Amino acid sequence: MKHQHSKTSVSDALSFLDSQLAARKPDTEEISVLAANDRVLAESVFSEVNIPSFRRSMMDGFAVCSADVAESQSAAVILAIAGESFPGREWQGTLRSGQAVRIMTGAPVPEQADAVIPIELVTVQGCSVTVSQPIPPGKNVARPGEDIDEGDIVAVAGRRLRPQDVGLLASIGCSRLNVVSRPRVGLVITGNELLPAGTRPTGHRIADSNGPMLAALVERDGGTVIRDGLTPDTPAAIRDALSDALQGRADILLVSGGSSAGDEDYAPDIIQELGELPIHGIAIRPGAPAGLGRAGRCLVFLLPGNPVACLFAYDLFAGRAVRTLAGRQSQWPYRTVSAVLESTLRSARGRTDYARIRLAESQAIPIAVSGSSVLSSTTKADGFLLIPADVEELPAGAVVQVWLYGN
Ligand code: AMP
Ligand code: MG
Repeated sequence: MKHQHSKTSVSDALSFLDSQLAARKPDTEEISVLAANDRVLAESVFSEVNIPSFRRSMMDGFAVCSADVAESQSAAVILAIAGESFPGREWQGTLRSGQAVRIMTGAPVPEQADAVIPIELVTVQGCSVTVSQPIPPGKNVARPGEDIDEGDIVAVAGRRLRPQDVGLLASIGCSRLNVVSRPRVGLVITGNELLPAGTRPTGHRIADSNGPMLAALVERDGGTVIRDGLTPDTPAAIRDALSDALQGRADILLVSGGSSAGDEDYAPDIIQELGELPIHGIAIRPGAPAGLGRAGRCLVFLLPGNPVACLFAYDLFAGRAVRTLAGRQSQWPYRTVSAVLESTLRSARGRTDYARIRLAESQAIPIAVSGSSVLSSTTKADGFLLIPADVEELPAGAVVQVWLYGN
């Protein structure tokens, strides 16, 4: 790892990352509309049908010829009930002047009728219905194509589908869709001291928290984890784990731990052996031992083992790659709020700092800036702010932008 003064800046690391991402087109796949929620459409979808495809009643009531009841205000009109039209079971007859058809919402309006009078506005007596106010032509009748016209674009390529998009796509009879594939992400979690997630820590061993956290982040960002599990700190084990993930056609590899220059930090050399690691050592706090590289077409992210550093380095770099390859916006999926900084924050010039923030009213209260091993600083926080590289001090009272972790 490079020395402090030669660490790569966040903006240079992002430029490298973006140039790598620009060079690859997201993969696409065909899926069922039933599995399409939250996926990103790879191709625009056009409708081949009108929705509705027939003149549809928007009310429960009576389908009539509006001309028959035009004078009904001065003298009530009695119409003979000629039949009934239900959704999916239309009336087969021909409506004549002086007749009405009892109709339900969603049912086809008989060809000769041009309006539907709501049930509340009439009086039914046996086989006849009394109308005492006129109804304009077209009233309560949905025209074919009112929702979607044949040829309309129903959803545009690049759209991240919401539940209502899925419903609309289903409504036009779409059964299969081309969507952006979820990027395949391999997790290589290194550390002899680690116990599998969900194990109670004992003695000098700790439970893996980065694995589950990274899996959740990858899922949040639209990726899919193809490999996880713990890897001991030996060159052979780390080499095997990385090769295994590459053979599993990983698009992205996240290596947690062993990223620095300590005695058991083998990952940087092995990544260089399998590909390249042009960026190692980034001017961030926490997270300085992070690195960015690649092996073949797979992007490799070296994430520090300390959990806060791991989270920050993921969010700064790896998450951007996952989201971009997933066809999503590259930006953080975090909202921001403005708040007034409660106490002064200082940082070294050239370094980007990650300050965990609690919000109280409109005050931004720093919880921690250092302390990269204290993961609870991120759970007690409502969000975080960045002290940018070119800022050495954010004074108390300054208005700052806080990124909110939560939903
Ligand atoms: P390393 O980056 O491997 O030097 O690890 C730095 C610190 O983070 C050490 O205290 C490790 O025990 C801890 N650490 C490494 N990996 C994990 C992990 N997966 N979950 C929680 N802590 C970790
Ligand atoms: Mg380690």
